[in-house]
Order: sequence, then C-alpha cells, then structure tokens
Amino acid sequence: MTSSATRVVAIDGPAGTGKSSVSKLLAEKVGASYLDTGAMYRAVTLAVLDAGVALDDPAGIAKVAQAADIKLIPNADGSSTVLLDGRDVSGPIRTEHVTSAVSAVSAVPEVRTKLVALQRENAEGRFVVVEGRDIGTVVFPSADVKIFLTATPEARAERRHKQNLDAGRESDYDAVLASVNRRDHLDSTRAVSPLRAAEDAVVVDTSDKTLMEVLDELSALVEARIGAAER
Ligand code: C5P
Repeated sequence: MTSSATRVVAIDGPAGTGKSSVSKLLAEKVGASYLDTGAMYRAVTLAVLDAGVALDDPAGIAKVAQAADIKLIPNADGSSTVLLDGRDVSGPIRTEHVTSAVSAVSAVPEVRTKLVALQRENAEGRFVVVEGRDIGTVVFPSADVKIFLTATPEARAERRHKQNLDAGRESDYDAVLASVNRRDHLDSTRAVSPLRAAEDAVVVDTSDKTLMEVLDELSALVEARIGAAER
C-alpha cells in the first residue's frame, strides 16, 4: 500500500508495447526512481533453470524462489543491475532461454507473494515509476497514476525483433510474434494476478506512436496528477 510519502506511477501492459523504454525515460523526466518488476521474475526464473527444477513443478519453483536473494541496483543511465545471490545476472536474464520460461515461473503463487512484498519494500517512501503486469491491479492498487500500454501483436513483435537485432542477438520475426502471442496468452489467463488493465487505468495504444510521443503523453498525466511539490 502507498504510505503518505510514497508516490507510485504504475505502468502495466504486455511485452513489446515500449513499456521499459518509456518507463525509464519517464522516471528520468519526472525525477522518480524506476523499478523493473519483470527483471525480478526473470531473476527467479534463472534461479529455477540453474537449479534444474522442472517448469511443471510448482513446489520446486516455490522453494527456489523462497531461497533466492534478489536485488536491483539502479545505474546512472536509468537501467538496473540485477543481482541474484550476489551475482550480476543483468545479461543472462534477457536470454530467450529465460524469456520462454518466465511465464510458467511467474504463475506460481509463492513466487508472486515474495516478489510483490519485495516490490512494495523497494517503493516505500519514494517517488517511483513501477513497470510490470499487475502493478495497478495488485501491487499498488492505490497508485497515484495508473497507465496501461497496449499495441497490436504485430507492432509489438516488430519492436522486439528490432531490439534483438540492435543488441546483436539472432532474431526471426515470425518466431518473435509467436513468442509474444504465447506469453500474452499465459500472462492474461493465469489464475493469480492475470495481466489486465485496472478499471481506473488510462489506456494508451502505442502502435502508431513514437517513443517520444508516448513519453510526452505520460509525463503530462504525471504532472497533472502529482504536483511538483509532492514529488
Ligand atoms: O516485462 P518483462 O518482459 O521483463 O517481464 C517478463 C515476464 O515476467 C512477463 O512475461 C510476466 O510473465 C512476468 N511478470 C509478471 N508480473 C510483473 C512483471 C512481469 O508476471 N509485474
């Protein structure tokens, strides 16, 4: 829950809507910190894969999650260094190996309970832009600003494909589109905290907008809802 000194901008939505890019820039623009909750689910997934636990073993996954020590250290450029048991896993958590397993791991209730508590702890007493899937609905239901980003599956796959190529990773557009659709389906149909817009979220379709257009729209919303003096 938000205490008096905590100010939260919740940004939810499926993969490839430009969420991470715009959340980092928005945090910088409005003078907030940035919390990437997807990185936490990815770190637990890496721990599960490293431990050799099967993705259809929720009890095994819960055990690994409970033992995992996850820390996000903010960097000057707006990104975060992700530490798993003291090891820098910022690179390994972005591999396809982790991406294809993360939805199964994040559907396990004990994983969510642990990470939601960690997310609330991280935000305590701060002005923070929190990016995820259930931030406005579950983690911070009384967030000061709630935004839900959407875009067509094709637009989202195109962005992910380009990001992969730009980062020097191999990429196949059709495979990326299939993976985007699969992850959306798993994330929106899971029993616990499915991906959906909060009733009071502002829905922004980014399909035909540039990153800067989305940034301007979101920062105007933040400025309107959280006065400069309150930040
Ligand atoms: O945002 P990112 O693509 O890094 O998220 C990876 C995965 O983590 C999502 O597909 C989803 O399964 C899970 N996730 C979640 N709840 C969040 C953030 C991410 O279930 N708040």
